[in-house]
Amino acid sequence: MSQDPRSPQLYRRSKRPSARPPSSAMASRPEDETKPAIRKITSLANDLIKDMRGLQSKKERAETGLFLAEGLKLVTDAFESGWRVTTLAYCDRVGQQSMVSQAVATALQRGTDVVEVSEAVLEKISRRDNPQMVVSVIAQQYADLAPEAIKGTWVALEGIKDPGNLGTIIRTVDSVGASGVILIDETTDPFAIEAVRATMGSLFHVPLVRMSRDAFARFNHAARVPVYATHLKGAVDYRSVNYPEPAILLMGNEQSGLNDAFVALATTVIKIPMAGQADSLNLAIATAVTLYEMRRSRLTL
Ligand code: SAM
Repeated sequence: MSQDPRSPQLYRRSKRPSARPPSSAMASRPEDETKPAIRKITSLANDLIKDMRGLQSKKERAETGLFLAEGLKLVTDAFESGWRVTTLAYCDRVGQQSMVSQAVATALQRGTDVVEVSEAVLEKISRRDNPQMVVSVIAQQYADLAPEAIKGTWVALEGIKDPGNLGTIIRTVDSVGASGVILIDETTDPFAIEAVRATMGSLFHVPLVRMSRDAFARFNHAARVPVYATHLKGAVDYRSVNYPEPAILLMGNEQSGLNDAFVALATTVIKIPMAGQADSLNLAIATAVTLYEMRRSRLTL
């Protein structure tokens, strides 16, 4: 193991260009690289650590196409689902290394850059106390969805803002066996660390598709599948519908709900009855309740 945190490989990069491929510090190790397989980094000022920490910023994620995932489960899911893990940083806590050794072995096999770091470095990357033992850098993936190819139940989210809600919805889509998530317009970033955390690994199993409002309207026109919009003004009880597949469930923004233009795209506007004083359900809860009803007859224990 190399002890030198100022390895030349980490400092190949000088100035950051404004739009760039993954920096040399975060790119996968080339096949013919003869440097030691695992380097040790304890310096908080190390370039790789700065780059990893930078992935907390949306701008940096957009520029590099990379994101951070914390914990052993997430990196294991990423490897198993064939996602490209460019860097794996782990902390060798006393007596716990065997838990990460499998992930390290897989990472080395796949050409992932593996670095052993101190607890302080992990805290710096993930910006929290008691960080997970492993933090990885992974390449983002979005899927394409052709109108004629839509199958099953999809959830379309219009301009949602809360990363925790988005992560929870992705996890629910996975749990209920729905097909994927369409992110319409400026939604919160599914690769933000809070969203990734909330998916609990479902991020690697649920296709995510991005569309502008206009593209979604065109997609909807071409796909001709029933669209169920949820709205507080809905006149149809969500439990009274026989949901076919394929179908799209349309959910609105946390503050303003669904835009009228989107409500107009719906085949049916459904509502979850409200009995108490609350004026609406949390977005992720409303999505879960409706999705379980939509797929009820298709689910067994
Ligand atoms: N003030 C917003 C409004 O007037 O629509 C509330 C938005 S609510 C917090 C976020 C989203 O959750 C809504 O756009 C809708 O998709 C869904 N939702 C929440 N409660 C619902 C309910 N009782 N029936 C149908 N949809 C609901």
